[in-house]
Amino acid sequence: MDSNNLNSVTALGTGTSTGIPMIGCHCPVCTSLDHRDQRLRTSILLQTVNGKKILVDTTPDLRTQFLNNKISDIDFVIMTHDHADHLHGIDDLRPLCFGPPVREINLYCNEVTHKVVEKRFDYIFGAKDLTNKPILGGGIPRLKLNTVPLLVETTISGESFFFFNYPHGHGETMGFLHQGFAYIVDCMEIPDELMTILKKKKIDLLILDCLQRSKHSTHLTVDRAFSYIEEIKPNRTGLIHMGHDLFHLDLMKMAKVQFGPSVFPLYDQQKLFY
Ligand SMILES: [Zn+2]
Ligand SMILES: [Zn+2]
Repeated sequence: MDSNNLNSVTALGTGTSTGIPMIGCHCPVCTSLDHRDQRLRTSILLQTVNGKKILVDTTPDLRTQFLNNKISDIDFVIMTHDHADHLHGIDDLRPLCFGPPVREINLYCNEVTHKVVEKRFDYIFGAKDLTNKPILGGGIPRLKLNTVPLLVETTISGESFFFFNYPHGHGETMGFLHQGFAYIVDCMEIPDELMTILKKKKIDLLILDCLQRSKHSTHLTVDRAFSYIEEIKPNRTGLIHMGHDLFHLDLMKMAKVQFGPSVFPLYDQQKLFY
């Protein structure tokens, strides 16, 4: 397979909200020496055949993720939802705006995330209202928030996306399809209508939420994720957002028993093509 003619996705982080190891935890997963059990907060980078670099979420580990993966420029950002583990590294986009030339980065999200992010980071998005004084020092990241339409093909910088919402806790996460790739993270359930759509799309690679074995109020369990994979039938599925309940190797074995090698947990800095 010639990877030059394919899009790629790099897992910048594959862990749950605390990151793994969790601070102060001495459990077997948090103290594992297998590098695949050390997980930064969940985020991915898409690199398209057209040369576009697309960051999905700005985690509190963003600076480390940029440095680990030698990322110094991106074309735009997709924001899945407003939870801190996916969002609060937003200020680390600042060095990418420095230039020269100074540039502005576009962020794309659903309507609710747009409103919340604008309010939560008013030092960025409300800067003009806060002060009429010139910005001193390193200043603020130059960012522009955009709301995307859902359930229709949408083109951003020449790349075609299909965005959709699904339930997660008290709110909704925005997932998407980009050509043969589907991203569904931080998911409590996939509603029937969305399942119908996903089953019709030819999905080559799915990256799917998979927090832990026991029941959880806002995320997919291993069993739930596996049952969705059975129904959607993507060619390959990478599992993401794992907590310290799951060793990489154990989850890999569980997936292999049911699906063979086509379903597997992701690990940080892993790169896949689609
Ligand atoms: Zn999360
Ligand atoms: Zn979340």
